[in-house]
Amino acid sequence: MTDLPQTAPRADADVPARLPVRPGLHGLEPYGAPQLDVPVRLNVNENPYPPSAAVVADIAAAVAAVGPELNRYPDRDFAALCTELADYLRAESGADLGADRIWAANGSNEVMLHLLQAFGGPGRSVLSFAPTYSMYPEYARDTLTEWVAGRRSPNFSLDLDHVLAEIDRVRPAVILLASPNNPTGTALPLEHVVAICEAARTTGPAGADGPAASVVVIDEAYGEFRREGTPSALSVLPDFAHLAVARTMSKAFGMAGARLGYLAAAPELIDVLRVVRLPYHLSAVTQAVALAALRHREELMAQVASLRAERDGLVRWLRERGLQVAESDANFVLFGLFADRHSVWEGLLDRGILVREVGPEGWLRVSVGTPTETAAFRTAMEEVLER
Ligand SMILES: *Cc1c(COP(=O)(O)O)cnc(C)c1O
Repeated sequence: MTDLPQTAPRADADVPARLPVRPGLHGLEPYGAPQLDVPVRLNVNENPYPPSAAVVADIAAAVAAVGPELNRYPDRDFAALCTELADYLRAESGADLGADRIWAANGSNEVMLHLLQAFGGPGRSVLSFAPTYSMYPEYARDTLTEWVAGRRSPNFSLDLDHVLAEIDRVRPAVILLASPNNPTGTALPLEHVVAICEAARTTGPAGADGPAASVVVIDEAYGEFRREGTPSALSVLPDFAHLAVARTMSKAFGMAGARLGYLAAAPELIDVLRVVRLPYHLSAVTQAVALAALRHREELMAQVASLRAERDGLVRWLRERGLQVAESDANFVLFGLFADRHSVWEGLLDRGILVREVGPEGWLRVSVGTPTETAAFRTAMEEVLER
């Protein structure tokens, strides 16, 4: 029999243990749009078209095929996936990319986190322009990077003079720009991307060998929905070693549930991301699902053209009702202005339509759904406007 060591009771024996929550995280709520079970969900910019039975069958077969190897760690470098993603980007935007210029992770949210883990950090800042994607400040917080937000013009475009002045003033390690921007739908002209990349060559943190560049991240999560004549930042990727263009399979591709985001950048930039990623971060199942989905890219992307047309129709319809609507190159539309946007949001919800209460005060954002869903939204809107 062993005796427990005899110790005097500690003075603080009755004090309940408190968690050593990191400063800055106290009392914070996790990010996330409400996931409500309503008939028409137009709140998170998903593709409304589910994958076909043929796509589902191929995904199931691909997962079954990796099953017998799940005792092994997956391909850490997801080489086959990089090849297919490069091939897809070549077809989608004409960008001439090799597999060595592709990086992927569990959603482009994780890609962004890798970027800030690699290039941000204490004493460094990330610069963006509001209103923009509400997750960006959270990546900054989680990587102890200072978040600095300049402003967008009243029509939500970027004022290049203001952007260049802010870059000069802030000297950010990372410049984070969504194009098309969420929640406004605004795309960035290619001349602005080029001007920003040129300005950012020496505006980053100072090091022993002089100032580094600011890494310019163009988040093209909605890139495939851009209107005719709006180019992708991918077309200037070969000119800048400090440019990264992020994409995702969550939106146009209709694979939000698969969690696969990626970016294109110079191999030297990607080598730094490899340092901070968790080992084997892309599971064998994720890789198999993404590869199977990419084999069906034509079918999965077939709805993009009709979603674009549906979006343009929705913009016209809202404007005909006398509402303000931001120009949109995405699969959603920001519209307003409402003295009480919450009551409009609620009025729509009462009629089974979930939109997003996001963006500047007075505006609401609606995702483009199927023609049936959009029609239901229009009917509900008319009723709410007539109240
Ligand atoms: C939806 C969205 C993403 C995509 O996130 P995933 O993690 O790939 O699903 C990225 N950026 C913006 C601005 C978005 O709206």
